[in-house]
Amino acid sequence: MFLADYHTHCLPYSPDASCTMEEAVQGAIKNGVTHLCLTNHNENANQDAPYDQFPPFYDWEGMEREFLALREKYQGRIDLRLGCEVSSPHYVPEEGRIVCGQPMFDFIIGSIHNLRSARDFYYLNYPEDFDNFRPAVEKYIDEYINLTASGMCDVLGHIGYMQKYMARQGKGFDLMFFEDRLRELFRLCVERGVGIEVNTSALRDALSDFMPPAAVVKLYRECGGEIITVGSDAHQAQDYGQGVREGYELLLSLGFSYVCLFKNHKPEFVRIGKDM
Ligand SMILES: [Zn+2]
Ligand SMILES: [Zn+2]
Repeated sequence: MFLADYHTHCLPYSPDASCTMEEAVQGAIKNGVTHLCLTNHNENANQDAPYDQFPPFYDWEGMEREFLALREKYQGRIDLRLGCEVSSPHYVPEEGRIVCGQPMFDFIIGSIHNLRSARDFYYLNYPEDFDNFRPAVEKYIDEYINLTASGMCDVLGHIGYMQKYMARQGKGFDLMFFEDRLRELFRLCVERGVGIEVNTSALRDALSDFMPPAAVVKLYRECGGEIITVGSDAHQAQDYGQGVREGYELLLSLGFSYVCLFKNHKPEFVRIGKDM
């Protein structure tokens, strides 16, 4: 039995979560998670972050202390690692490097939640706040190219994130319309040893799909991509591990036979199969 959830949030480090770190660990165990990476938000390098919600403050020591105590307490029941979901660390690279270089982190997810000088896609009205739609999506993919080139993260988080919020407003588009640019992104990922994640949070939302969707994960593989993680992006204890098994089924159907764990920013490939 193997189930690794590599994208999760908890209080107080992620203010938008609703469970403490220990409630999170207990929720994960209850849902059959065997390997858990806690990846709380950090917006310190994102100059346009919603600081009313995510203050540019981080209790590094407190988080590490709480994590180490829980790792010891739950040893033998769940493999715990500490990572971070960093928003656009390349926007203010000096700050980004400080965050991503914290020695307590085994794993960094680099996510783009907003374009430069723009609000998080979560807050936008579609299409009013997202006119010039095509150049905006191109700019979004270009920022993932810049992020990959910066060398600051291990995997790219939830590519196609705005689709989750567009779907809530009954809107949507096919990310594969941008295939050429995505191909450019994935070639760079392969060259730089940067992976992508399959984020399962929108399976629980109006979008009802993976982020990125299957066709984009397939394109990543066609470009030679092998480094891949699966994460629930849970913000409440009952969501820990949700959709991860479906993520493995997707990977198997696309010809992946491994999923990655991370130790000291190095991927560890674990075989997945029907008999798990
Ligand atoms: Zn995110
Ligand atoms: Zn997240």
